[in-house]
Amino acid sequence: MKTTTDRVPQNRLVRTEIPGPRSRELMARRNTAIPAGVGTTLGVFVARAGGGIIEDVDGNRLIDFASGISVTNVGNSAPRVVAAVTEQVELFTHTCFQVTPYLGYVEVCERLNQLAPGAHEKRTFLMNSGAEAVENAVKVARYATGRSAVVAFDHGFHGRTLMGMSLTGKAMPYKQGFGPFAPEVYRAPYSDPLRGTGKLAQTIDTLETMVGAASIACVVVEPIAGEGGFVVPEPGWLPGLAQWCAAHGVVLVADEIQSGFGRTGTWFACEHEGVVPDIVTTAKSLGGGLPISAVTGRADLMDKVHPGGLGGTFGGNPLACAAALAAFDTMETESLLERARRIGTVMLDRLGAMAASNPAVAEARGRGAMVAIELVGPDGTTPDKGAAARVAAACHAQGLLVLSAGTYGNVVRLLPPLVIPDDLLDEGLGILEAAVSAP
Ligand SMILES: *Cc1c(COP(=O)(O)O)cnc(C)c1O
Repeated sequence: MKTTTDRVPQNRLVRTEIPGPRSRELMARRNTAIPAGVGTTLGVFVARAGGGIIEDVDGNRLIDFASGISVTNVGNSAPRVVAAVTEQVELFTHTCFQVTPYLGYVEVCERLNQLAPGAHEKRTFLMNSGAEAVENAVKVARYATGRSAVVAFDHGFHGRTLMGMSLTGKAMPYKQGFGPFAPEVYRAPYSDPLRGTGKLAQTIDTLETMVGAASIACVVVEPIAGEGGFVVPEPGWLPGLAQWCAAHGVVLVADEIQSGFGRTGTWFACEHEGVVPDIVTTAKSLGGGLPISAVTGRADLMDKVHPGGLGGTFGGNPLACAAALAAFDTMETESLLERARRIGTVMLDRLGAMAASNPAVAEARGRGAMVAIELVGPDGTTPDKGAAARVAAACHAQGLLVLSAGTYGNVVRLLPPLVIPDDLLDEGLGILEAAVSAP
C-alpha cells in the first residue's frame, strides 16, 4: 500500500501566480464547455492530491483547508480507499442493489446503524448525493406520519434538487430564478448565538402557531449550519427542539451531511448535545471521496414504506460502498475522531486570538475540525462579505485553499482533511492570520 507521502510531497509550493498559466488555459477551455452556473471557487486545475496538499497542473502545491467541502476527511486517495476500490473494480462495478444485492451495501448500512446516535433498532438505505438523501428522509417521514408539512430553518442548506433547494434558506445562488418550489415547506428561526436570535421559545412558537404541530411530518435541521456559516446553536436549542418533536410525533431529521462522519470529533455532531434524531442523513465524507449518501433511521419508521418505494439505480454503488468501508476503517485505525478534536483545538486557539485582537473578526466558532471566522464591519455586527472575499483571495494567492460560507457570505470556513500534518495546519493558519490582519 503506497502511503500518501510517497504520492504527494507534503509541503506548500508556490511556483507561479495562482492560478498559473496552465490552469488559466484550462479555465478558458472549461468556460467554453461548461455553463457559467456551475461556479468555481479557485480556478486551479488539480493534478493530484493527498494528505494536506493539492498539487495543480502548474506544479504548485496548495495547503488544503477545504477537503472538497468536507468530503475527503480521510484524505484524498487515502491508501485504504484506493486499495478497496481497486479490488472492487475488478470484481464487479454495478448490478443495482435492487436487482441483485451485494454484501458491501449491507456492511455500510450495518456500520451506520451501529454508529448513528441512539441504542434503538435502525435501518439504513443508500443513495448517491446529499440532496437525494434529504429527499428520501422527507419521503420516509411523510409516509410514516401521514402528514405533509416539512420545516427547515434559517441558514439551512440541504442541496440543489427541488426539495433540497426548497428547504434551503438562501436565495442567491441556490434559489433565485429556480421557483416555484416544493409546496408544504416552512421555515423557522435557527439559533444564532452571535446575534441572539432564534431562541428556542421563538422557534417552537413558529412551529406551533404558523405551521401547526399536527401537520408537520418532519423538521430537517443541521446540528451545525454548514453552508449557512458554521453557526453552532445555543446550548439546549437542539435538545429542546428534539424534545418538542418527540412530544408531537414530529420526525426529527438531522442533516449531518457536512457535520457527520467524524468532522466535529464525534461520528455525528448531534452527539455533542446527546441528541438522538429519528432520521439522520450522511453523504459528503462517507465515501472517502466517492459519491454515496445514506438515510439512517428508526426501524419502525423506515420499515413502513412499501417494497419498491425507496431506492435508485446507482444508490450504494459497489465502488462507493467499498470506499465507504475503507473510510470507516481509516477513521478507526488512524484515530481520526481524536485527530479532529485536536485540529479543532489548534484552530480555535489561533482563530480565537484573531477574534480577540481584531474587531473585524466578530467570532471564531465551530466544533472539532469544522471551524470558521465571521467577518463584520466597523459596527461589530454588519456582515462584511467583501472582507471574507478579500481574505479568501489573499489565502488563495499564498497557496492556501479556503472556502467562504454564510447566509451573508461573510464567513471563512476551515475544513482541513483530518490527516493534514501538523506543520501544514500551522502554516495554513499563519497565512490566514496574515490575510485577516492585512489592511
Ligand atoms: C452539501 C450538503 C447537502 C447536499 O449534498 P449534495 O451531495 O451536494 O447533494 C445537503 N445538506 C448539507 C448539510 C450539506 O452540507
